[in-house]
Amino acid sequence: MTPDGDIRATRLSRVLGAKTAEALEKSLGLRTVDDLVRHYPRRYAERGELTDLASLVEGEQVTVMAEVTSVTVRPMRQRRGTILEAVISDGRESMSLTFFNQKWRERDLRPGRRGLFAGVVGRYRGTLQLAHPDFSLLPDGVGEESLAALEFAGALIPIYPAAKSVTSWQVNAAIEVVRSYFDELADPIPDDVRREHGLIDLGDALTGIHRPTARADIEAAVTRLRFEEAFVLQVLLAQRRAATRALSATRRIPATSPLVDAFDARLPFALTAGQLAVSEQIAADLADEHPMHRLLQGDVGSGKTVVALRAMLRVVDAGGQAALLAPTEVLAAQHHRSISALLGPLAERGRLGGSDIGTRVALLTGSQRVSEKRSQLLDVLSGDAGIVIGTHALLQEHVDFNDLALVVVDEQHRFGVEQRAALAAKSREGTRPHVLVMTATPIPRTVAMTTFGDVDVSTLSEVPAGRSPVATHVIVGAEQPGHLARAWQRAMEEVQAGHRVFVVCPRIGDGSDEEAGAGGAGQEDGAAPRAAAVLDVARQLSEGPLVGARVGVLHGRMPPEEKEDVMRRFAGPRDERAIDVLVATTVIEVGVDVPEATMMVIVDADRFGMSQLHQLRGRVGRGTLPGLCLLITDTDAGSPSRARLDAVASTTDGFVLSELDLDLRREGDVLGTSQSGMRRTLRLLEVARHGDVIVAAREAASVIVDRDPTLATMPGLAHAVDALVRDDSAEYIEKA
Ligand code: ADP
Ligand code: MG
Repeated sequence: MTPDGDIRATRLSRVLGAKTAEALEKSLGLRTVDDLVRHYPRRYAERGELTDLASLVEGEQVTVMAEVTSVTVRPMRQRRGTILEAVISDGRESMSLTFFNQKWRERDLRPGRRGLFAGVVGRYRGTLQLAHPDFSLLPDGVGEESLAALEFAGALIPIYPAAKSVTSWQVNAAIEVVRSYFDELADPIPDDVRREHGLIDLGDALTGIHRPTARADIEAAVTRLRFEEAFVLQVLLAQRRAATRALSATRRIPATSPLVDAFDARLPFALTAGQLAVSEQIAADLADEHPMHRLLQGDVGSGKTVVALRAMLRVVDAGGQAALLAPTEVLAAQHHRSISALLGPLAERGRLGGSDIGTRVALLTGSQRVSEKRSQLLDVLSGDAGIVIGTHALLQEHVDFNDLALVVVDEQHRFGVEQRAALAAKSREGTRPHVLVMTATPIPRTVAMTTFGDVDVSTLSEVPAGRSPVATHVIVGAEQPGHLARAWQRAMEEVQAGHRVFVVCPRIGDGSDEEAGAGGAGQEDGAAPRAAAVLDVARQLSEGPLVGARVGVLHGRMPPEEKEDVMRRFAGPRDERAIDVLVATTVIEVGVDVPEATMMVIVDADRFGMSQLHQLRGRVGRGTLPGLCLLITDTDAGSPSRARLDAVASTTDGFVLSELDLDLRREGDVLGTSQSGMRRTLRLLEVARHGDVIVAAREAASVIVDRDPTLATMPGLAHAVDALVRDDSAEYIEKA
């Protein structure tokens, strides 16, 4: 019980009975005093107010406040023993409680008594029912000395998240035991921050949330505790930012920039103002003696790759090397092709027709021939290859660089602390390479602040001129068979005009399913009929509506060479082209660039998440030709799945969409399990709704960490941040 917050870490078994402690840990995951006091009520029942029984949903675990209206006991028909049936009511609706062989409960369950009843809602012969509920009756009459009197002394009765083996009032009783510690717990929020933001202290907040005397108490408590969640998290992120600033990197300042200049001169277009501005930010980061850690986000086609390439050329001009990591081999190969094309002779140093100021672009993939790989590795080691392209595996493999200056990570926002640490081995002793992460999945500002709070974020918000937006429509197959037929007819017209068409399906259909990616956010119904499969759809189309078109197939289980081959026949130079319609899984989600692709049909579109659909449709309309995207579904109007599809059809702005997505999903999986530990620690803070709290907490946290980076003078805060990191690593290990 030291004043430095130790009591929080105290195991519940030391303050509660062993049995209670075990039940709390087993069913609710509460191990310490801190866990318990942070187990906040889900809602509050008012003493005089009964739960609206009509609102109950079958199958849910509930705790209701109701009044007993009648009790009957009768013998069982088939067996020996009795059934006690009590009817409880909220004044309008009623429901029945049944107990087997518990005749003695008749004594307590007298008509007119009120109490809390907990169990799983069932239905029997049309009436709602709780079979064998737990219950706790409110004291009735003067002088009654029951446990209930102690448990529910207040006018506002807290209803806790409970489980089958631990009822709300058992949690409540446990809270009562640790209540005396409320004022002893060291407050994570320093006094001055608290005063500045008008927040009550921790002891008052815990009393307010667990033992409120009025609604206003709850409000003040929640405001403070919510701020605390945001604040502790932001302190952790501010510390991580500070730690990154403490690392060393080599400054990359080119004396002259012949490569960048020659590249700019080659570009067939002018860079947008946004591209120039972000390039400036990156140049400044690269000139710093601490490693850059920047996230470059921009909608598909906003020109991120060009910006990244200029950064890579800049470090080459400064004598270093850059690596570009793609999520798949197909994408690595594609980057290699398009970057080599953009650079032309600038990528051919030392070869016939190559430029003297140029460099080489190496490609390293798992499927390369040994001899090919060896020569590429040599170029990387010698430094002749200024740019090295590969998959993320490149970090793990034994690839030695001459002088790795910059790592660009494409389409991967979960490039966390661990991955960054792995880079240390690749760079010069004692230094880290600069890191630029590119993502086309726009992240709402508040989410970025919460999950990537230790990263600088740049955004390309304008799409280069001359690009036409993709028109998106939802087609309901079952309701609009005519529209469906018209869709395939339209696809045929595109093919006849010499354009390319993508058809995307959630499954492969080779018996190996399910392909990752399909289903994520879309499948809330496990019993849904099987989703459309690539192999089936390809066959149906080529025999039916698209007869005469050349239909190809692409999915993740094809060998890399075969994938390459299909992509070349679909997207390659005119004379190699042999596929008009590509039926594929989400392997085409990122990066694939086919300027003549004008149409995409997504079958069973409801199986995909919103950002995934947005990514997918970004594959069409990349040239000057307008794009069309059709989302085919059988979901009902008004269902959440349909709402998501309608949202995707309603806007082409990835940022607007990501905010809508956040709204539709609410909390849930926004932070994802990969942002380990965070979900469990965010109880009151909803990233979607409390952006202002996050912004305020972030500012306060920066000030605090600047003042005392190790939090030595703030033990309460240090303890809270520690707990966050511990949760973090515990879950991380679990997943590994
Ligand atoms: P992203 O990586 O953000 O999806 P890219 O960098 O691949 O976007 O650019 C998409 C396409 O737009 C490419 O063909 C690229 O050459 C072209 N592009 C990039 N910047 C511009 C610009 N400023 N003006 C016109 N076209 C551009
Ligand atoms: Mg790209």
